[in-house]
Amino acid sequence: MKKRLRIVAGNWKMNKTYEAGRDLVMAVRDSLGPSEVVVIMCPPYIHLKPASISLKDVLNVKLGAQNCHQNEGGAYTGEISASMLKSVGCEYVILGHSERREYFKESHQLLTEKVKAALENDLRPIFCFGEKLDSREAKKQNEVVKKQLKESIFDHFSKEEFANMVLAYEPVWAIGTGKTASPKQAQEMHKFIRSLVAKKYGAETADLTTILYGGSVKPANAKELFGQPDVDGGLIGGASLKAADFVAITKAYF
Ligand code: PEP
Repeated sequence: MKKRLRIVAGNWKMNKTYEAGRDLVMAVRDSLGPSEVVVIMCPPYIHLKPASISLKDVLNVKLGAQNCHQNEGGAYTGEISASMLKSVGCEYVILGHSERREYFKESHQLLTEKVKAALENDLRPIFCFGEKLDSREAKKQNEVVKKQLKESIFDHFSKEEFANMVLAYEPVWAIGTGKTASPKQAQEMHKFIRSLVAKKYGAETADLTTILYGGSVKPANAKELFGQPDVDGGLIGGASLKAADFVAITKAYF
């Protein structure tokens, strides 16, 4: 029987020079050991090729990028395409992160185009979404999340395409703030998200969908969050920058 993947993904954001990144990849690799969790490292672009060489024989560690352009190539100074990412060994790409939505004004429509580009190049999108604090305080979090999923994903992709995506619920008020959603809040939202997927693509697809939680996950809170039935792992920002913390989080799973 197929079961959904459990994933712990590290989003380094814009951190680590070449040498520091190389050291972090090797430190994680050397202390990870066998794991039932798929570990994904998402460093800045400059680290992807050297990391793919360091991780060549490490089965349960995959590489992801933090963004890609929606077009295949051309005059887009400073950008990088999904096929370029694929060519350096990426298997995943984070799309829709709240920092991209906020600072780079990425719209629902643009995100659809990026997800399409990723899928066309055999990259699995880790699609991020989540409400801001004012929406949570107004108890509108379900409405916001439903709209984000509908407008970027549900209205545009078939069940077969959706099967290659990973979802990451990241309440914006919990990202980099030290404030984590409680296990109960995370479970409630993940269950709601799975019900939306079931309504759109059917119960079997919903059951197989990996839904990550992101927002101030640390070694101290990972076990309880990952213990919730609809939380299938985490997208880790700050704590992915220290090998010991990141590895401890991957071990919090089982
Ligand atoms: C993130 O950037 O996706 C994230 C969850 O960050 P942090 O773990 O630092 O809150």
